[in-house]
Amino acid sequence: MSQRAKSRRTSAPPQSAPRQTGTRQASTPPRLRAPRRAVSVTPRASPVSATPIWWDLADRSALAPCPPLAAPLRCRTAIVGSGIAGLSLALALARRGDDSVVVLERFHGAAGATGRNAGFLLCDSECIDLAARMHGETAAFALHDAGLATRSFVRDLERGLDDSPPRSLVTWTGSVRLAADRGESCAFAATAARGLPGIRCEPLVAAPESGSVPYLAALADDGDGLLDPLALVALILALAEARGVRRFDATPVETLRATRTGVVLSTPGGDVTADRVIVCTNPDAARLLPRVGASASRNRWVPVRPVRAQALAAWIDPMPAWRRPTYATRGGDYWRPLPDGRVLLGGMRRVARRAENTAATAASADVQRALDAHLRHLVGPEARIDVTHRWGGTMAFTPDGVPRVGPVFDAGPGAAPGGGRDASTGPGRSRIHVLAGFNGHGMGWAPGLADVLAATLQSSDPSPRAGRSGSAARQATAPGLPKVFRPGEPPSANLDPPPPRA
Ligand SMILES: Cc1cc2nc3c(=O)[nH]c(=O)nc-3n(C[C@H](O)[C@H](O)[C@H](O)COP(=O)(O)OP(=O)(O)OC[C@H]3O[C@@H](n4cnc5c(N)ncnc54)[C@H](O)[C@@H]3O)c2cc1C
Repeated sequence: MSQRAKSRRTSAPPQSAPRQTGTRQASTPPRLRAPRRAVSVTPRASPVSATPIWWDLADRSALAPCPPLAAPLRCRTAIVGSGIAGLSLALALARRGDDSVVVLERFHGAAGATGRNAGFLLCDSECIDLAARMHGETAAFALHDAGLATRSFVRDLERGLDDSPPRSLVTWTGSVRLAADRGESCAFAATAARGLPGIRCEPLVAAPESGSVPYLAALADDGDGLLDPLALVALILALAEARGVRRFDATPVETLRATRTGVVLSTPGGDVTADRVIVCTNPDAARLLPRVGASASRNRWVPVRPVRAQALAAWIDPMPAWRRPTYATRGGDYWRPLPDGRVLLGGMRRVARRAENTAATAASADVQRALDAHLRHLVGPEARIDVTHRWGGTMAFTPDGVPRVGPVFDAGPGAAPGGGRDASTGPGRSRIHVLAGFNGHGMGWAPGLADVLAATLQSSDPSPRAGRSGSAARQATAPGLPKVFRPGEPPSANLDPPPPRA
């Protein structure tokens, strides 16, 4: 029996996709046009699913949707969005003693990018040398620290947090990056020379993940791993609910209004009035947050834009000897083995870059064709390829590649950035926060950044219980935390100096 047939026998039976309301991250079947040129993919007997593969592998009972909000509600903390950012923040706040956290979600848990990604748990998005050149040393290390904090968060969950039984969530295989050009291979060498624990160049012959493609260099990070994003979310949900977090699915937040005493979130089921709100809605943060004030141009305060990423899942026979999450061509291509023996491959956005600047999630013919060709290139001409899933999802990109984490400042017309009055302490201003813009790296960064944000929020609680406490000043001192961009300041000015490194 081939390896593929063996793994197939042990795989979970296919299930249908969860019912999705709305259109934005919903799974509409991709209408794949016939390829212009023949792609050498073995014809399949069964139709290709447009559902992200995780939903066919998942224990759905753990992710059952909860009822929508049906009456007005008052709470201390309202979180908008039930993805990895919103849910890990809800758990982090509940663990720090916030006993009044409500999560409002327009569809259901993990309906967005969190239920559609590749499940790479990488500390860094780019290798450190490239990240430092793109964002500056301070931001690169702030984000590296967020990645390390995410690893610790997941390891704590695995050890059995809050009396939950220990379990395995991540296959800690380490990761490998493959350079496709000389500039990237030099960046690998410079990264390895920094001597960060576990990060090293390795000979290409030691990286079977490079398949038949002549990449130039390989950089390994032994601390990274592979996960099933839905299994992680299901556990976070269960732990958050056990700590009293209340969730409402099918509850879109339509507007936010800051008042002197709180923030009012309007939803079809009634208004939610909260002492503070954290917007964790991926690129939709830009749509929701301009409504904080009078001006539509306030969008610039949270400059996130939607970018589609696409992936496929396939059986390969013979099964390739891939073990690790693999990033190639500066993260433009990525692939991994799946727990049931299939492989997942994504990327190739560069073949249709303009068309991929969209919030639509359906797979497109151009990118999927390029993925097919890349997969063929990796596994060689003889292998049998049987694609079972093709899907897309929406990432939130920021102009500088740095996430937006922290209070949404509202300086009002004419206020000088960094000068004059402290804009963030105006009525209700520091009550609205954002945690978004992960630039395709939210599984690696969001839980780590959520933990820092939760710590900051708890030390600067604007609720009547905590009294008025100069929240903006304390938020500004969270070490290494990327902040909301203030127009007129260079991106690096939004970052505090990193904590001293041991
Ligand atoms: C194909 C693909 C592969 C990827 N691979 C990886 C990977 O391997 N590793 C990695 O680290 N990252 C990866 N990413 C990126 C990662 O998935 C995202 O960065 C991360 O999931 C973002 O989490 P989030 O919670 O911010 O957003 P989401 O998961 O999108 O959650 C936002 C939620 O907010 C809800 N929402 C929006 N507006 C409203 C509203 N008005 N009211 C109420 N709810 C609202 C949405 O329905 C959604 O559920 C990938 C992304 C894609 C698409």
